[in-house]
Amino acid sequence: MIDRHGRNITYMRISLTELCNLRCRYCMPEEGVCRRSHHEMMNEDEVVTAVEVAASLGIHKIRLTGGEPLVKRNIVSICRRVAAVEGIREVCLTTNGILLPQLGKQLREAGVNRLNLSLDTLNPEKYAYITRIGRLEHFQAGLEAALEAGFDKVKINAVLIGGFNDDEIEALANLTMQYPVDMRFIELMPIQDHDEFGESAYVPYSKVLEKLPEAVPVQHDGGVAKLYRLPGAKGNIGLISPISAHFCGACNRIRLTADGKLKPCLHAPDEFSIKGLDFDGMKKVFEQAIGDKPAWHGDLDAVNRSRAGRNMNEIGG
Ligand code: SAM
Repeated sequence: MIDRHGRNITYMRISLTELCNLRCRYCMPEEGVCRRSHHEMMNEDEVVTAVEVAASLGIHKIRLTGGEPLVKRNIVSICRRVAAVEGIREVCLTTNGILLPQLGKQLREAGVNRLNLSLDTLNPEKYAYITRIGRLEHFQAGLEAALEAGFDKVKINAVLIGGFNDDEIEALANLTMQYPVDMRFIELMPIQDHDEFGESAYVPYSKVLEKLPEAVPVQHDGGVAKLYRLPGAKGNIGLISPISAHFCGACNRIRLTADGKLKPCLHAPDEFSIKGLDFDGMKKVFEQAIGDKPAWHGDLDAVNRSRAGRNMNEIGG
């Protein structure tokens, strides 16, 4: 479907749960989230129907995220059913990786093509600090499991936070020398509950290039990241700049929250409920949501905060 700004919407991100087994400081509150009753949240059949509707409108790429998608008891079944929907060419998962030693192979067999893993630091104390409850060795076991399971692509995402991990840019980038992974740096976005990060936390992607003078540009792969590569590396460096150089003009995605709200723009308050609707009902709402997709997300920085109205774990990153 083409929106009214001429963008072809081909990609849907689905948050399967607001719950997570970590508590990253920029993403969610320390106390976690209030468990909501099952009937408020999308069930497996509704998620699959939403994917069928999306596919009927030309969406061919699905990313399952959260919260943490792997804490869903039925994650393997959801992946298998989503991957089987006619018209879906690619199923991707974004995960903190902690549960991959148990689930990696099953997810691959269920039809998941690509994985994005989240890792902001290589220092165990800093990992425990930023995730509030995580242990770096669990991430490392998850990364090994991801590589062993044979996904088409594994990417690692780090949120770039001034004063926290901007001294680790080289070390994180060097993961592409060690492993066949892409390492992506994402600018911190000013969403809801993380006002503990002041102005200096908002580091532009250009800082990564300053720290990696030997990185050379490589051809764009159709995603939102600007791509570079270190000489002799096994994977690319990706730079994602929602703040300093937004890519709204090329945005091809919509989002579905775990409680069944379509969000045409991550940073806009607009939400369109599809919870409880059948295929035809959902289709009408999809058409309206895609039709109403804003041209861009507006100014974002330490002062001009996101108008998303939810924490990231309640939207799906
Ligand atoms: N639990 C999974 C994980 O850790 O990857 C999936 C959900 S998490 C919300 C998805 C991604 O959103 C992570 O890579 C996380 O770092 C990113 N994220 C969360 N809050 C963010 C923020 N305020 N700015 C930039 N990225 C953020």
